[in-house]
Amino acid sequence: MRTFCQNPGGFVSQENYDGGLAVVNGHSYKDRKSPNTNVAVLCTLNFKHPFNQPIAYAQRVSELINMLGAGHILVQRFGDILDGKRTWPKELAQSNVVPTLPDAEAGDITAAMPMRPMVEIIEFIKAVDKVVPGFASYETLLYAPEVKFYSNRVQMDENFDTNVQHLHCLGDSSGWTRGLMMASVMGLLMGENLADRDK
Ligand SMILES: Cc1cc2nc3c(=O)[nH]c(=O)nc-3n(C[C@H](O)[C@H](O)[C@H](O)COP(=O)(O)OP(=O)(O)OC[C@H]3O[C@@H](n4cnc5c(N)ncnc54)[C@H](O)[C@@H]3O)c2cc1C
Repeated sequence: MRTFCQNPGGFVSQENYDGGLAVVNGHSYKDRKSPNTNVAVLCTLNFKHPFNQPIAYAQRVSELINMLGAGHILVQRFGDILDGKRTWPKELAQSNVVPTLPDAEAGDITAAMPMRPMVEIIEFIKAVDKVVPGFASYETLLYAPEVKFYSNRVQMDENFDTNVQHLHCLGDSSGWTRGLMMASVMGLLMGENLADRDK
């Protein structure tokens, strides 16, 4: 479990992928601020033999969530998830935490999210609440689906050499990094490596 894309004063946004798949992201504007903070909560799933279609799996789960929201992003209060009930639009309208994605549909994420990631998301939110009190409050809003479609990792040796001569894959394109720091470090190491080769 990990957090990603934390935006104090930010806005939850909708992105549409191939086939009209609606997924959640977050934006932080320089001059426009909301009273909320949004943060992605991501659960990594590692599949074992015989299953080898993790991207198709994430797409299907996302499509199911989209179906429940009639094509819209689903939003549900954390307390309703713990109580085992959907969030009704009139309850969301009365909440103190106002959604920053106005056309998200109040509903039941747990009706479409597989049990394993759902349990881990709930436990993670409760654990973070110990260091960030209020994180697991009744009115904390969960939006779904938020998915990351990471590509396979390109096979390389310790010098970033692939099986194609003079072709190196760095940063997120290599499948080995997912963040600014590691992508930058990879670039730096490649630069040093190439400089050493020229000596
Ligand atoms: C919405 C969002 C939020 C993120 N937030 C964070 C964060 O808070 N912290 C964090 O650590 N990471 C974050 N990341 C991840 C981070 O941005 C990436 O891990 C990082 O930028 C990867 O660096 P890179 O150099 O490998 O690839 P990129 O930064 O994607 O650079 C690739 C470059 O290649 C260019 N390019 C593509 N195709 C071609 C072509 N054919 N010819 C020439 N140029 C081409 C692209 O235009 C781009 O400039 C976020 C990513 C996204 C999308």
